[in-house]
Amino acid sequence: MSDTNKTEAGSRLEPIQLFNDSTFHFECRKGLSCYTACCSRIDILLTPYDVIRMKNRLELSSAEFLALYTKPEMLQKHGLPVATLKMLDDEEERCPFVKPDGCLIYSDRPSSCRYYPVGLANLREKEKSDHDQFYFLVKEDHCVGFNEKKEWTVAEWRKDQGIDLYDEVNKKWLEIVLRKRSFGSKAKLSEKSREMFFMISYNMERLRQFVFESKFLSLYDIPEDLVEKAKESEVDLLQLGCEWLKCIFFGEGTIKIKEEIRKNQGNASQQEEQTAKAF
Ligand code: SF4
Ligand code: SF4
Repeated sequence: MSDTNKTEAGSRLEPIQLFNDSTFHFECRKGLSCYTACCSRIDILLTPYDVIRMKNRLELSSAEFLALYTKPEMLQKHGLPVATLKMLDDEEERCPFVKPDGCLIYSDRPSSCRYYPVGLANLREKEKSDHDQFYFLVKEDHCVGFNEKKEWTVAEWRKDQGIDLYDEVNKKWLEIVLRKRSFGSKAKLSEKSREMFFMISYNMERLRQFVFESKFLSLYDIPEDLVEKAKESEVDLLQLGCEWLKCIFFGEGTIKIKEEIRKNQGNASQQEEQTAKAF
């Protein structure tokens, strides 16, 4: 699975597994004949941290950003709703942020734009608590960057592109997504659970309102430090949300439904129902 990768018709995935110390030749810079050609007609799945960075850069609320710049899609194997970057409705179907000089939001560009032309594959086997990953190259016919002399290891590329921070912030979220995929269609989510997943993934203002202004804190036992940090930062709020998703989807993690509520409610679907009421 290429979870963090942008694709376009005419792109080739090199059938070679790369690891952190694997090398490749590549350079992307102004002056190349293909400059910005890769920023059209692409599917970019947005991660939660992508949306936090982009909407703050553009000084928009999450809801405004989602409405203006994204379109919803369903990850079929996972049964999860996600946001993808909406291309312009013009002949070239360009990314709304591409300009002749490059990316308008370069320092806040999404994770998949940072990875490119490296793709990340995550393999998660059922019954395992962690996942394996490797990398591969995405070679597009028009991209002349591969003809450049500069050599990188994958680790150097990751560092140069600031990928580590994005992966660290998105780690819990990605684990949930991969785990849901391994459950396949056997574990179908209710409409309400899908809504909760989307809110936690992409709408920090709505999540903040839900955590601090609904019955949520009276229903769940949540480590105090998680609550305190979530008040201060959207990144920590996202981590709290992901811990909660682990509780509702898999019945595990550091957030637990309060003992007295659990005794009254009994099974997991009733707990979900209780949560849905707060939602
Ligand atoms: S096509 Fe390749 S070299 Fe050209 S701008 Fe895009 S990534 Fe850079
Ligand atoms: S966000 Fe920036 S780097 Fe990514 S496709 Fe759009 S213009 Fe290109």
